[in-house]
Amino acid sequence: MSVSPSADVIASLQKLNLNSNNINYQLTPEELQEITVDNGTGREASSGALAVNTGEFTGRSPKDRFIVKDDITKDKVWWGDINIPFDSEKFDALFDKVIAYLNTKELYVRDAYACADTDYRLNIRVINEYPWSNMFAYNMFLRPTEEELEDFDAEWTVVNAPGFMADPKQDGTRQHNFAILNFDRKIALIGGTGYTGEIKKGIFSALNFILPVYKDTLPMHCSANVGESGDTAIFFGLSGTGKTTLSTDPDRKLIGDDEHGWTPDNTVFNFEGGCYAKVIDLSKEKEPEIYGAIKKGAILENVVMDDNGEVDFTDTSVTQNTRVSYPIHHIDNIQWPSIGNNVKNIFFLTADAFGVLPPISKLTPAQAAYHFISGYTAKVAGTEAGVVEPQLSFSACFGAPFMPLHPARYAEMLSKKMKESGVDVWLVNTGWTGGPYGVGTRMELKYTRAMISAALNGELGLYNYEKYHIHSVFGVAQPRECPGVPTKVLSPRATWNDDGAYYKTAFKLTNAFRENFKKFEEHASEEIRRGGPQRYAF
Ligand code: ATP
Ligand code: MN
Repeated sequence: MSVSPSADVIASLQKLNLNSNNINYQLTPEELQEITVDNGTGREASSGALAVNTGEFTGRSPKDRFIVKDDITKDKVWWGDINIPFDSEKFDALFDKVIAYLNTKELYVRDAYACADTDYRLNIRVINEYPWSNMFAYNMFLRPTEEELEDFDAEWTVVNAPGFMADPKQDGTRQHNFAILNFDRKIALIGGTGYTGEIKKGIFSALNFILPVYKDTLPMHCSANVGESGDTAIFFGLSGTGKTTLSTDPDRKLIGDDEHGWTPDNTVFNFEGGCYAKVIDLSKEKEPEIYGAIKKGAILENVVMDDNGEVDFTDTSVTQNTRVSYPIHHIDNIQWPSIGNNVKNIFFLTADAFGVLPPISKLTPAQAAYHFISGYTAKVAGTEAGVVEPQLSFSACFGAPFMPLHPARYAEMLSKKMKESGVDVWLVNTGWTGGPYGVGTRMELKYTRAMISAALNGELGLYNYEKYHIHSVFGVAQPRECPGVPTKVLSPRATWNDDGAYYKTAFKLTNAFRENFKKFEEHASEEIRRGGPQRYAF
């Protein structure tokens, strides 16, 4: 529904010094798609989806993410390279500049909310320079009903001006693009970048402060789904490890693919109203649900399309990070509202490009805490020809760039919840097998799915320790058998066919774990420290 802004909406926009004569309020996705196609900034794919290019930025820019240091944040935020402080007066000055810029443009304004559980709901107003960014906000946030819009009070405002370029010297930014959170004014200010992910991650980062500090709720960078018996599974993991892919499971109802809160009542709610899936190498055969979600209403980002609007999902000439956003109801099997109960299983997904971690293993509570704080994954460095070393990446809580508080704060909350609910915790390597990147291959998706199903259905012989092998280096319990998976695949060492090379690489990884964990040692108990790998190379 497209509605004209009420006097209240106009008045609150005027408080931000925005003109009211260029506001397109609450346009439908169809209207936004039409405007985008008409103004030449997007094309309709043969599937009906809108295809856009996000411009200079095709991913987030963590070095340009700031938090205003004020009375609310100064003693609570874990300041450093991840949470970079920004001066409050500089923010006000930059904000005014962005508003002056936006006043020269046609604007797209949308009211929406985050958090599926009404007790935690956060009302958001998104102000966009581009129509397709506003359509992204429609897809990704929760959509208020007409009735809910009548007395809608926006608490947080996202101001998104991709065409505005900051002057670092004058404005206090690092370069021309920026994403700044202001907890006092409740504003996420984004400029110089058209990457839509900044919009959703801005609100995610705000909630990652608000929920633990004020609502005793654990915010998580994870996906979640529910089984037939009402059991909830959650999947933590850094970008590209499989949160979206693996939570989209035809046999389980999807709660959400990226951001959730775990409440004191032990419910898990989605923050969002849509999904944001990677589409690199997407195929109908391997991922039919996501493939089918790409239809009218979805937005494809940075894909390459021929004259007939056929997308080539293997083409990475614009970026490896090609994406699609869609409202969650583009997936058939969903839990609605997006809230789960009874958390039974937690999966830590890691794409280990060294190929040394077992494809699935079970963790003790101490190992779970250790791995959560470490947040390991290894990415493939680049696509250039020649040998490329996988890039080690440790990101606390599997989402450090979005976590304003000290990781120990989230880890303590998770440990407490794991104890209370008696969950099983699994480490899943969705990365390489049979050798490191360049030698081995990516774990087959169908095997990873089979392993996760077996874990969820209690088919991994969990209570029979004869069916496990304790990994001699990582100390984790590695199942010897799994329905639907060749036995050899379960043992990374066996897949390498070269024990010496396997252990050498495994030790390289354990040393990196130990080095990374040093900065958390003072916050971790002896028990948690022992949850790390058991053997190191000296
Ligand atoms: P983000 O946080 O950036 O949204 P994500 O954790 O949701 O990342 P996905 O979008 O699920 O990650 O990306 C996983 C990618 O890896 C997909 O492109 C998927 O097709 C591919 N893939 C290949 N093999 C596997 C596997 N065994 N398990 C999971 N994903 C796999
Ligand atoms: Mn995802």
